[in-house]
Amino acid sequence: MFNKCRLLTFFLILFYTLCFSQNALKQNEFYPFFNEDALLQNIKTLSSDDFEGRRTGTKGADKAKEYIIDQFHILNVLPFNTNYEQKFSFFTKRKNYNGTNILGLIKGTENPERYIVISAHYDHEGIKEGLIYNGADDDASGIGALISFAEYFKNNPPKHSVVLAAFDAEELGLEGSKYFVNNSIVSLNKIVLNLNMDMISRSETNELFAVGTRFNNTLKQVITNFDQSETVKMVVGHDGEDGLENWVYSSDHASFHKKGVPFLYFGVDDHEDYHTPNDDYENIQPEFYKESVKLIIAVFNKIDTMNF
Ligand SMILES: [Zn+2]
Repeated sequence: MFNKCRLLTFFLILFYTLCFSQNALKQNEFYPFFNEDALLQNIKTLSSDDFEGRRTGTKGADKAKEYIIDQFHILNVLPFNTNYEQKFSFFTKRKNYNGTNILGLIKGTENPERYIVISAHYDHEGIKEGLIYNGADDDASGIGALISFAEYFKNNPPKHSVVLAAFDAEELGLEGSKYFVNNSIVSLNKIVLNLNMDMISRSETNELFAVGTRFNNTLKQVITNFDQSETVKMVVGHDGEDGLENWVYSSDHASFHKKGVPFLYFGVDDHEDYHTPNDDYENIQPEFYKESVKLIIAVFNKIDTMNF
């Protein structure tokens, strides 16, 4: 009797759980689809000590590279070139470095000859004085989002062709993106936009800045008229004319901007753990991060339906 009761209770709970999760699904219908747990797992893995801070040219960066390529494989992302890797070298701080950009391609359904480059950088600061700079927000958060984009495109192919670019050597002077635009695999005038994500997983004020609309009226319209999410406030700013710190040249989007390619950069204000050994997974805000990624995908969708 007691057992039967327990069984009944179990089924009741199961029934209610199913009902409620279906409701939750309905409420989320407006949001693009990707696996939120996988997003968190990816940022957690890439910013774990095993990856040793992912400094360009180190074992940790190699490991991150393999991880991203594996994810691209699993999610049916095509290589943009003959393979996923775009190798380059450069000289800085009295040293020669070898870097590797990881470039994936999703073919567009309606405008396959016009490209949107979605980017984030996978390198970070490495190990300094025995301390690992894990770079969870900077920029494992952007790479996690890039992988979620790939997952999303599996079920929702974009109209424009999309290059998923995981750039290397951003921290050493935007070297990966510089190489990308100077040795472009397709002619630069076919790239209609760079959407760059660098530091999108935490904000004390729940603000996600959208930078770059100052230079493009179409983008300005899209961002200023966008429906706001409750968890993440998308704010226009830091584009060199509002008295705030100018972020136009702060990350890989600058390389595109200098070549005249329109860009949209998403990022948060610097926080206390910025470029310290405490930029760890434990200090990100999972809800803010998940909502940021959804919002950025929604913005992408809006732009993808437009003609640039
Ligand atoms: Zn960064």
